[in-house]
Amino acid sequence: MNGTEEIGCCGAYCGTCREYLKTCKGCKPGYLDGSRDQSRAKCRMKKCCLTRGHITCGDCGEYESCETIQSFLSHPGYKYGKYRQALEFIRAHGHAAFLNAAKHWTNAYGRYPEQDP
Ligand code: SF4
Ligand code: SF4
Repeated sequence: MNGTEEIGCCGAYCGTCREYLKTCKGCKPGYLDGSRDQSRAKCRMKKCCLTRGHITCGDCGEYESCETIQSFLSHPGYKYGKYRQALEFIRAHGHAAFLNAAKHWTNAYGRYPEQDP
């Protein structure tokens, strides 16, 4: 695994989330090896994103016009703005740069290098 499996489809980062593997199995782990059943996934973003073979919704050609992801990211609350920032960062810089930025986070979101505030 190169780490991208821990990036949630919506931009939440499971890798540094405090609930990951305690109360939450993470967004994606288990679907590729069949230990979780994709047809039972409830999250619309996740279902769609995995079905289309994307790592995140940020990789999708319909990202900007997609009601599903855009309405999720438009929820009030700090974390949604951070998830949007994550997907925008991935769109601009790629997954490897995102994983590098996220290395020292202590939550499902965090700060980015200064050149990308
Ligand atoms: S809200 Fe959906 S896409 Fe985002 S981390 Fe949770 S299951 Fe994954
Ligand atoms: S952006 Fe929309 S259409 Fe694209 S994978 Fe995400 S939920 Fe599906």
